[in-house]
Amino acid sequence: MSGDQILSVDSLSMRFGGIVAVNELSFNAERRKITALIGPNGAGKTTVFNCITGFYKPTSGAMRLAHDNGHAIQLEQLNDFRISKLAKVARTFQNIRLFPGMTVLENLMVAQHNALMRASGLTFLGLIGAPSWRKAEEAAIDLARTWLDRIGLLDRADDAAGNLPYGDQRRLEIARAMCTQPALLCLDEPAAGLNARESAALSELLLSIRANQGTSILLIEHDMSVVMEISDHIVVMDHGLKIAEGTPREIRDDPKVIAAYLGTD
Ligand code: ATP
Repeated sequence: MSGDQILSVDSLSMRFGGIVAVNELSFNAERRKITALIGPNGAGKTTVFNCITGFYKPTSGAMRLAHDNGHAIQLEQLNDFRISKLAKVARTFQNIRLFPGMTVLENLMVAQHNALMRASGLTFLGLIGAPSWRKAEEAAIDLARTWLDRIGLLDRADDAAGNLPYGDQRRLEIARAMCTQPALLCLDEPAAGLNARESAALSELLLSIRANQGTSILLIEHDMSVVMEISDHIVVMDHGLKIAEGTPREIRDDPKVIAAYLGTD
């Protein structure tokens, strides 16, 4: 992997019985960039996410994630828990998966469960004192409140997450993923169901995450105005195959892409 790459997908295939959902797909995602994975319904995009995040074991192929320590982590050899914990890959889903009955703040605290459990275990074992545990908890609350401020929901911290407007819930999910301080953030159709104002707020949030946190983002999205506005690189899939990749301008003008979306292939 080159030093600029965060993710390298090499000849990835995923079959379900006779269906080839992903067919020998190869692409790279660069660090601190937004890479979009687009394509018509059923192209195989979510299946790629499910392979990268360990929800599916791919039929064949390799997926390598660059770790902070300079080594590459072979994602296909890990389960979903280890991919989120060791490889620091966070994801959101097509349908919102917040805890609706918990408060907005609690949803962000749950994301930091691993760090808090570690501090709690060390306290229990007598390896760190109660003040250190309290420090870990305060740091988690600070991080959660920082993200609530970033998405304009600090004043809703104590409200039930399920009572937020839909667009706010979408951005809360992204804030929750960011509380895990991921190396790679995978977003599955974050603009689905948003109105124009909410989509603009989403684009602004993702651009600010790239600029301020330098987080590498992999984005599945059908809203082409969002994709074209914020992506650095676009990979286009159709029927499990990569049919094109390039900058937004290159993709917009590509006849293969136009044909795939118009269904004339
Ligand atoms: P959309 O944009 O509609 O979300 P997509 O590009 O994300 O589509 P996938 O959801 O990855 O496409 O589906 C690709 C193909 O794989 C489809 O034919 C789908 O029916 C099939 N598929 C996905 N998951 C499974 C599964 N668990 N079992 C069987 N077939 C599956």
